Amino acid sequence: MLTEIITIGDELLIGQVVDTNSAWIAQRLNDIGIKVKQISSVSDDVEHILKALDEAAMRADIILITGGLGPTKDDITKKALCKYFNTGLKFDEPSFKIIESIFQSRGRQVTPINRLQAEVPENCMVLHNLLGTAPGMWFEKDKKIYISLPGVPTEMKGLMEKIVLPKIKERFPLVPIVHKTILTQGIGESFLANLISDWEDSLPSNFKLAYLPAAGMVRLRLTAIGDNEKKLRNEVEEKARELNNYIGEYIYGFENDKLEVLIGRLLREQKKTICTAESCTGGFIAHKITSVPGSSEYYIGTMVAYSNEIKIHELNVDIDTIENQGAVSEDVVLAMAANAKKKFKTDYSIACSGIAGPDGGTDTKPVGTVWIAVSSNNKTITRKLQLGNNRDRVILETAQHALNILRKMLIGEL
Ligand code: ATP
Repeated sequence: MLTEIITIGDELLIGQVVDTNSAWIAQRLNDIGIKVKQISSVSDDVEHILKALDEAAMRADIILITGGLGPTKDDITKKALCKYFNTGLKFDEPSFKIIESIFQSRGRQVTPINRLQAEVPENCMVLHNLLGTAPGMWFEKDKKIYISLPGVPTEMKGLMEKIVLPKIKERFPLVPIVHKTILTQGIGESFLANLISDWEDSLPSNFKLAYLPAAGMVRLRLTAIGDNEKKLRNEVEEKARELNNYIGEYIYGFENDKLEVLIGRLLREQKKTICTAESCTGGFIAHKITSVPGSSEYYIGTMVAYSNEIKIHELNVDIDTIENQGAVSEDVVLAMAANAKKKFKTDYSIACSGIAGPDGGTDTKPVGTVWIAVSSNNKTITRKLQLGNNRDRVILETAQHALNILRKMLIGEL
């Protein structure tokens, strides 16, 4: 079963909009065992669209198209599809009802131009889009399936999840495929590969492992293909569990888990509070923690102690400590963590100080040197990190490390 994705829109070809639709669709198809053979982007030009459809139909069984279904003149996908299937347009009453209700909910009258969005090619099955005004369409011709979806990512995803993916699964006997993503923090890809090489060698031939490094983490994606989905799922779970023996200390979650969500859950369960005292991250840890809804229950506040003056005057860091050991030192983050915890009256605190770069490094403290301290009422954990010379990465990885230390303290691993 081969698929191709065609994304339509001049904005994609001038680099104004990044084609995230293809990546998302490809991932979802891959999840259910359907291979994507090719991804193309074409301009809002009927001839180009027709050529792309012809070529895709030579290679693939399912052709997925997004974009160009809007009400404006440059949205010409429907025109191209009518030409391709040699058909005219029909008015689809249920689509019009959805358009009307969307307009009503925004207190507006339906314009004639929006009424046109309820017109669809005569030979299609309409995929009703409750999230927007452009309906999706499903066509079949010469044993090939063509699916046209709106370009707006939320609308496209809604139709894919609700109608397209279930319909594809129902239509084609797909080989069961099971994925499990294991999230690790605090170790690079090659070191990880080294630690789990025996485990990797022990994987059955129907298993595949992918290393997916991202800023501040490495995801391990385990994929297994077989006949019996339940048996397969158990085997995947068992193999993932085995990883604890090799890299347990680096695993912090699974699938789409986020450290800030995990620590939020733990703090809430344990009825504990936290504050931050940030130098090199400039409030980024606070931002991550507060990006979680409901964080006000456990997060009290931050002191962005960027300058030495603020460290000294607001967080009572001893001037001699800074002069003798430098602002990026263990004693400074220890004082920041202890005094922030006192000042904000919390159960935990996170403090960090580092050289995010690109300037400011020395021989003894090169760019990327970071000290972190995480304090509870009865202990403080400190870490010195060397995070390289990319400023964004230093900030992000500092936050990931700090949150993971806190997570380990909250579950009693540290
Ligand atoms: P609608 O009628 O609901 O607007 P549409 O099919 O006309 O849908 P387009 O006009 O092509 O969609 O695109 C609408 C918006 O969706 C674009 O401005 C762009 O921000 C986004 N978009 C379009 N195609 C893509 C894509 N391939 N990846 C990510 N975003 C996209």
